[in-house]
Amino acid sequence: MGDFFERIVDLEVSAADAGAAAERMLEWMAARGWVLRETSAEGVYTRGVTEGFVAGPAGAEIADDWGADWISGPVAVVLGRRAHHPGQGEVEPSGAVCPSCRATTVIIDYPQAWEADPVVWQPFSEAVEEWERTGAGAVRCGRCATVSPVTDWAWTDGYALGALSFDFWGWPPLSDAFVAEFVARLGHRIEHHSGKA
Ligand SMILES: [Zn+2]
Repeated sequence: MGDFFERIVDLEVSAADAGAAAERMLEWMAARGWVLRETSAEGVYTRGVTEGFVAGPAGAEIADDWGADWISGPVAVVLGRRAHHPGQGEVEPSGAVCPSCRATTVIIDYPQAWEADPVVWQPFSEAVEEWERTGAGAVRCGRCATVSPVTDWAWTDGYALGALSFDFWGWPPLSDAFVAEFVARLGHRIEHHSGKA
């Protein structure tokens, strides 16, 4: 077991519907033996979540083969609106794509810069905070001036806003077939992170 994670973020579910969606997905995964209903706190590093569902006997069916001795950790269900970062730390996305004109606003100008331009990032970060608090936040595009919900913007680097995620702690990379079936059952767009915390 390690601090690797595989994460699936639901980009569309509302905070009000997230609990029911999580339960539906857990029921399916437990029925297949991929997770158990038993919970454990060991190896769970999700902020604000203390435990996850223990990997089931058939868990190896849905992930790469890291050998018979590999023991995957718990699957934490993360409820509530938050920004999900793909890796270590909480690095801002390097760019945001306007849903209206598709222009990319550069937030971190790699490799000239390694941190977010504070002036560029501020309206986005304020909109994210507003969305986390109230469920709605908007940003005006610097190119086309259209004001769009912050959740309609697309992001570089895997940055994801969502009210539900599944954090598979210490799991090998999830198989494409599993992720595809997960998405079909969830019925929403997702972001998939493979990272190390
Ligand atoms: Zn625009």
